[in-house]
Amino acid sequence: MVPKSFEYFSPGSLSEVLSLLRKYKDDARLLAGGHSLIPLMKLRLVSPKYVIDLRKIPNLSYVREKGGKLLIGAMTTHRQIATSPLIRSKSEILAETAEVIGDPQVRNLGTIGGSIAHADPAGDYLPTLLAAGGQLKAISVRGQKTFKAEDFFHDMFTTALKQDEILTEISVPIAPALSGGTYLKLERKSGDFAVVGVAVQLTLDESNVCNRVKIALGAVGPTVIRAFEAENVLRANTVDDALINEAAKRTSDASEPISDLRGSAEYKKEMVRVFTQRALVKARDRARSNLHKISGTR
Ligand SMILES: Cc1cc2nc3c(=O)[nH]c(=O)nc-3n(C[C@H](O)[C@H](O)[C@H](O)COP(=O)(O)OP(=O)(O)OC[C@H]3O[C@@H](n4cnc5c(N)ncnc54)[C@H](O)[C@@H]3O)c2cc1C
Repeated sequence: MVPKSFEYFSPGSLSEVLSLLRKYKDDARLLAGGHSLIPLMKLRLVSPKYVIDLRKIPNLSYVREKGGKLLIGAMTTHRQIATSPLIRSKSEILAETAEVIGDPQVRNLGTIGGSIAHADPAGDYLPTLLAAGGQLKAISVRGQKTFKAEDFFHDMFTTALKQDEILTEISVPIAPALSGGTYLKLERKSGDFAVVGVAVQLTLDESNVCNRVKIALGAVGPTVIRAFEAENVLRANTVDDALINEAAKRTSDASEPISDLRGSAEYKKEMVRVFTQRALVKARDRARSNLHKISGTR
């Protein structure tokens, strides 16, 4: 299918984008990598009269470190994130997420900002941003705004972002020394959307007791889900295998999958348990190995 006809703009500054958004309101859509918007337009599920391309806007594509955080421009592609040495060294969870999104074509063009604004419940960044404590910066004619990732995703394809706001930056705190994180995704075949996505970020103390933990799930509910009860099981306790198994079970209880082409609800709940168990073991072992590295340097 082909999209309905539309007028295309390719402005060179954020202020131009903001005035176009103000002028055309709900008739306008921003275009980033186009890997969600264009398929929707071709299927005529979305038919904007005005498409505003962000690709000529300067300074929206970058990865840098500042004030204990990783800062990522909204137009940074999945590939740039997956291959950034800075992200690899400071946030394994984020690098692991970007590298399992779609296929090379999708990763070369799709952007983190587009992915987050689109808010597909199976989008891989959503659980990772919640587990890692991410924040999102947006701009509009009213000024700048910052959202916590946990307040941003309201429902399926629905976020806190208003029609006239542009996502400009994603930030992720760099986890303290004795931390480990991971994103594990079950997919039917390489390049597919997640059947189940599990993100875990935890911090231990020197006795293997869990100081901080966040567990978030993708693709098993109308939007991303935090597994609060499982986190409570782990927090302030020694992270041994029995505790991990209990937390994995509680995480599965928190999931709300539906039966569809990717599997039955029952199967997905069991996969949440299995993948959370694996993710917790991996995150704990990464945190422990960081502890050993630190002890070795003392
Ligand atoms: C074959 C295929 C496989 C895929 N597999 C996966 C997968 O496994 N995992 C996964 O997570 N995703 C997957 N995707 C989706 C992909 O990650 C998209 O790149 C992403 O969802 C949207 O990013 P984009 O830059 O392409 O945004 P676009 O498609 O250009 O835009 C998406 C939406 O976000 C809005 N938008 C874009 N940028 C901004 C901004 N800066 N501020 C405000 N609003 C903005 C647009 O108006 C639009 O509504 C897949 C896509 C395809 C086509």
